[in-house]
Amino acid sequence: MNKELIINSLRVDADLLQRREVRRCNLAECQSSCCSGGVYITVREAEDVLAHAEIIQPFLPEARRDPALWFDDSREPDDDHPVGEMCTGTSVINDPSHPAGTTCIFLRPDRLCALQKASIETGEHPWRYKPYYCALHPLVWDEKVLVLAEGSEVYLEGGSCNRPAPGAPIQLVELFDDELTLALGADGYSELRTVAQQHNGGG
Ligand code: SF4
Repeated sequence: MNKELIINSLRVDADLLQRREVRRCNLAECQSSCCSGGVYITVREAEDVLAHAEIIQPFLPEARRDPALWFDDSREPDDDHPVGEMCTGTSVINDPSHPAGTTCIFLRPDRLCALQKASIETGEHPWRYKPYYCALHPLVWDEKVLVLAEGSEVYLEGGSCNRPAPGAPIQLVELFDDELTLALGADGYSELRTVAQQHNGGG
């Protein structure tokens, strides 16, 4: 079988058609380990976050509310995304309370993302202010192909976003429905579901 699919004109790893004994992460176990190193974010999204600073600030600890602290000075083209905008990074701070010792500046002590919390509490879509790559995780674009990140270095022991879960296998396209819709669009996700059902014998 071809290792790659073309869905909605986008390249998708055919392994995403698999059924597996996996489940989503559990915050109490993983402690948001995927947030320990900050995130790559388009400059466009960072500017949007800064433009809505007054909405986001109340959801951060007081010492982290200065928008000047939120992003680093990096600027680099995103060569992995099919479109590939200019990107920067969220700041990373020392946090001795976190198993990794560092976290994204937007990760609150309760291990919730301040950007997602602000989105929800203000009645927006939960991903309104959340960076695209955070919402997409554990899916990633790798050299313009959509793949499931496996064995990522950001996973601490026990912190994987696609953990083994003995029991009934589930289709990855079902488990990661929201993330796939974000990546491929609603039409693309529907197309991928159809292909997956055919691949898995209709179920
Ligand atoms: S922006 Fe939010 S979800 Fe993304 S790394 Fe930072 S705390 Fe985690």
